[in-house]
Amino acid sequence: MTATKKPKKRAKKAVLLPATGTKSDMPHVGRAVQGCRCPQCHTHRLEERRDERDRRQIEAAENDPMTGAVQFGANATDEFRNSLNGGQQ
Ligand SMILES: [Zn+2]
Repeated sequence: MTATKKPKKRAKKAVLLPATGTKSDMPHVGRAVQGCRCPQCHTHRLEERRDERDRRQIEAAENDPMTGAVQFGANATDEFRNSLNGGQQ
């Protein structure tokens, strides 16, 4: 047994605490780190892409009248229109 004990090496982290000091902004945990391939960062990037897709869909549907009526394309046949809404428009 040795008398002196080696001090434990501290894990190296790029940023120990974020600028805000809150855990919700911690790298890997609260947000993705650029170039990192860990599962947490992967999930953050996945969620960012989903958020972006949702944002685009919401933006595209912003001026949708949302009347509940079926909107037909110009090439829809009368038979098709009748089968869906009973012949209206
Ligand atoms: Zn990471």
